[in-house]
Amino acid sequence: MGNLTVFKVSRKRLCTDAAAKASISTSGKPVHEHEENQSFRSDVQQYDIAIVGGGMVGMALASSLASTPLTKHLSVAIIDSNPALGSKKIIKKEDPPDPRVSTVTPVTISLFKDVGAWQYVEQNRHAYFESMQVWDYTGLGYTRYDARDISKEVLGCVVENKVLHSALFSSIQDTDFQKTIYPCRLSSMTVQPNISYDGGNDTLSKTKLHNEGRLAKLELSDGNSLYAKLVVGADGGKSHVRELAGLKTTGWKYPQSAVICTVEHDEENHCAWQRFLPAGPIALLPIGDKYSNIVWTMNPKESQECTIMSEDEFVKAVNHALDYGYGPRPKSGLFGNEGILSLLGGGPTLSANEGFQVPPKVVKLASGRMAFPLSLMHANNYASKRVVLIGDAAHTVHPLAGQGVNLGFGDAFALSKIISEGIAVGTDIGELSLLKKYESDRKSANIMMMAVLDGIQKAYSVDFGPLNLLRAAAFHGAHYISPLKKNIISFASGEHKLPLFS
Ligand SMILES: Cc1cc2nc3c(=O)[nH]c(=O)nc-3n(C[C@H](O)[C@H](O)[C@H](O)COP(=O)(O)OP(=O)(O)OC[C@H]3O[C@@H](n4cnc5c(N)ncnc54)[C@H](O)[C@@H]3O)c2cc1C
Repeated sequence: MGNLTVFKVSRKRLCTDAAAKASISTSGKPVHEHEENQSFRSDVQQYDIAIVGGGMVGMALASSLASTPLTKHLSVAIIDSNPALGSKKIIKKEDPPDPRVSTVTPVTISLFKDVGAWQYVEQNRHAYFESMQVWDYTGLGYTRYDARDISKEVLGCVVENKVLHSALFSSIQDTDFQKTIYPCRLSSMTVQPNISYDGGNDTLSKTKLHNEGRLAKLELSDGNSLYAKLVVGADGGKSHVRELAGLKTTGWKYPQSAVICTVEHDEENHCAWQRFLPAGPIALLPIGDKYSNIVWTMNPKESQECTIMSEDEFVKAVNHALDYGYGPRPKSGLFGNEGILSLLGGGPTLSANEGFQVPPKVVKLASGRMAFPLSLMHANNYASKRVVLIGDAAHTVHPLAGQGVNLGFGDAFALSKIISEGIAVGTDIGELSLLKKYESDRKSANIMMMAVLDGIQKAYSVDFGPLNLLRAAAFHGAHYISPLKKNIISFASGEHKLPLFS
């Protein structure tokens, strides 16, 4: 190994047998202000857990481990070359808005509160929304949703990704958690097959433990190596961990890309809007102050054009897509049977009485525009010996319902819980049988959400008379039939029951 510089962070701590202390390692210059006691290590470091990928989901796992009594003493390495990780730059509310945002569900909000991260989100720009309107370009129907339909205060909150990331990082900094950040990338990984052992000999060398299959070995792009009992792949849709572990995937590319950016209105927006157009949906999501975020799905060629056309042309195209373009505004009472529908399974929801509303006009662009190709991908298995996948490394979904990172946060918190349960009964945290419990816990929830999103994507990709009518009937049903509407809202809030009649 090259010279690994370890900078200890001044915090009181308890240690496991792992060598790592609460520290930040760099191959070059120090990256944190609170570093002290520089020391040099020539041996290969050993950790309980190596998290490869310190994006939002990797940091959610670290935050959950840091705040759970049975896991907060684990030694953890976080490997990611993203400069945002551990950056000294403080995010300010007045900073210009970032085009990358996420709609987080009430379930995610409560998980963030549990680990002490939500308070940091609330110190920055964010927008709770209590209503949502969905309609399509045919003008045949619309649905309005209101949090009060299910006796909740909000349907969700839109937050910039950098704010979610830094809130999780701050929540970890509030603890004594032993973490070491490696600002580089994973190059290779080896896990040896199991050799039976008596389980009692803790004095074996790390090399021997690795040779016996009791530690994974990671090689990093800066020349460092490390050992870990468990390697977590939180390294996104193109996960190197997944590839190195030989975990296969199923999926396909959508013939669509999403253009994202932040826009400004004359007044504050408090509703989440989504209109389905012939080439895909356009969403206008409030993000606080007079800003909203646009997620506009279209074919890849159009998406390229949208990122280079002039700002004025783009603003015009957005207003056209959100209101009068492609087709008429829907009218209420198109089918004339709303009264009967609202009697199906109980009285009407509050939002069933709300008429169609026109979204606020966009007056100017407030950020750069970015285009992302879209795909559906699911790892056939989330776990192999000493390796487990979370977040986009395990699954990517269409962004039309803003669920991707919420599923990832669900994975991160579920894995942390399973690790804690394993520690409680003295199980090796890299054992496949333990990791399979996490897999079976998350797979069904993730697959169900993927199926629903893929179904919606397909249903709205076809412009065909009878199907248009069927879609209009679906909007109509969702608007007026109370049990269906309540189930859809609960499902989208992160309570993963199928959106059917209860
Ligand atoms: C247009 C669009 C809109 C979206 N909107 C929403 C929304 O509203 N709500 C929602 O829930 N989801 C949304 N999503 C999905 C969401 O953005 C992703 O699910 C989320 O970013 C996944 O987080 P992650 O941490 O798993 O992966 P990533 O964000 O991809 O992070 C992976 C990390 O791993 C690091 N990495 C990669 N390779 C290596 C390596 N070899 N070694 C070390 N580190 C590595 C990267 O640097 C990165 O920091 C949207 C997605 C798109 C494309």
